Amino acid sequence: MYEYGLLTQQIRRELEAIVGAENVSSSSDDLEKHAIDESLEPPHPPHVVVKPRRTLEVSEIIKIAYREKIPVTPQGSRTGLSGGSHPVQGGIALSLERMNDILEIDEENLMAVVEPGVLIMDLHEETEKLGLLYPPDPGQESGSLGGNISTNAGGVRGMKYGVTRDFVQGLEAVLPNGEIINVGGKLVKDSTAYSLIDLIIGSEGTLATVTKAILRLVPKPRHTALLYVPFESTKDAARTVSEIVRRKVVPFALEYLPRHAVLTAEKYLNKTLPDNSHPAYLLIGIEGNSETEVEENLETAGEVCIEMGGVDAFVADTAQRQEQLWEARKCLFDAYKAYWEIDEVDACVPRNRIPDYIEGADRVAQEKGVIVSTLGHAGDGNVHSLIAKGELPEEEWPTTLEAVIEELIDIALSLGGTISGEHGLGLAKKRYLTRQVGETQVELMRAIKRAFDPLNIMNPGKTFDLL
Ligand SMILES: Cc1cc2nc3c(=O)[nH]c(=O)nc-3n(C[C@H](O)[C@H](O)[C@H](O)COP(=O)(O)OP(=O)(O)OC[C@H]3O[C@@H](n4cnc5c(N)ncnc54)[C@H](O)[C@@H]3O)c2cc1C
Repeated sequence: MYEYGLLTQQIRRELEAIVGAENVSSSSDDLEKHAIDESLEPPHPPHVVVKPRRTLEVSEIIKIAYREKIPVTPQGSRTGLSGGSHPVQGGIALSLERMNDILEIDEENLMAVVEPGVLIMDLHEETEKLGLLYPPDPGQESGSLGGNISTNAGGVRGMKYGVTRDFVQGLEAVLPNGEIINVGGKLVKDSTAYSLIDLIIGSEGTLATVTKAILRLVPKPRHTALLYVPFESTKDAARTVSEIVRRKVVPFALEYLPRHAVLTAEKYLNKTLPDNSHPAYLLIGIEGNSETEVEENLETAGEVCIEMGGVDAFVADTAQRQEQLWEARKCLFDAYKAYWEIDEVDACVPRNRIPDYIEGADRVAQEKGVIVSTLGHAGDGNVHSLIAKGELPEEEWPTTLEAVIEELIDIALSLGGTISGEHGLGLAKKRYLTRQVGETQVELMRAIKRAFDPLNIMNPGKTFDLL
């Protein structure tokens, strides 16, 4: 067990001297806000919220925490879905929200240099003005880039482009003793020794605090179109996902929606989609640099869908129509939350096992008497199962929910999948890690954690237990 120091008035005065009294808060309002993210995990208030503006301030704050053995939990926008930014041991909630400048968009190297508190929607807006694209696009656009990097966030474009890790070329980070390091750079290649940058990406604030990032950009394709395809059965829709790829079309997005999700989105938005009467739908995003290229790929994708059991293929070729379909897709988490208390599993399986995962998830829903709406990034194998109580008696919900999560994770693992495709383990899913990777790998991870953070002050209690 690790013992932690107390955050005394003297320490608070030191923190105020670094960032200014107005950026150190223990008002009940602030403690409440910084105690939660978007997951179902119960609140864990910090003792104090500290908001630095510069890397040197982060370093000074963490040096104090190291000296006094005070836990530090880095926080971005707190939109995480696994409790990763909950300060479970109290201490300092280190909010990076004021470090929110886009420092540079380097058109010669195709890289952006950003502070961690920049919101992903702001980077998208600025790069797109220059005809450039930062491909990772997690559905929650108010998430911060520091949070995206620390969870290795994904999003709808993962299928074609990959995830956040694939676009992080360099990081400035503050180690748990306050030392500042730079890893990587404006480099396309780097074979020098161990990849510390890859350890920090996805480490959920447990190894270091990210204070700057160099991110790779790509030219933005000039044309896009979306197909919305209803299917006669969930199985047909799910099987079509890998068939489209086998036929050499790689959409930038390939999302799976069961009818339940379509109806929920329509109700929430008070709008109608082109069709809502079929068991399942695919939303297929095609892009290219010429209209002909987009049209050819649309045609092939449409043909494959019809061959596989699609009943129609609605084409959205104007920005406005595409926006309407994306709005329906992107509102789903909020829509489900508006009507039910929900939890979720964001398993990822090999793309061609998606039909088996969806079938398994639907079976679990029937057996347990709850709603399991499995939807999302089918193109990269990462579907989200949103779990809601439905008609289940209140007293049965907590144990049933736990059993449903376990079964869904077991199904994913049995198909060669992973517990989390993009949200991270945080607090919510850490208990399943050994089940996936085994004790040997968890012990290696513990050794890495101890090497970075011997006092276990960085976001303690996340990803796995240190023992
Ligand atoms: C409606 C909705 C849709 C979503 N859709 C997606 C999606 O499609 N894909 C996806 O991947 N996620 C999605 N998410 C989850 C969430 O938006 C992402 O996990 C995002 O990366 C979190 O960013 P954040 O700034 O909110 O981080 P936070 O929640 O504040 O923190 C997340 C983790 O990162 C750590 N952290 C934050 N900043 C730093 C830093 N500077 N240095 C070190 N550690 C840090 C925290 O300690 C914590 O462990 C969605 C969430 C919602 C609510």
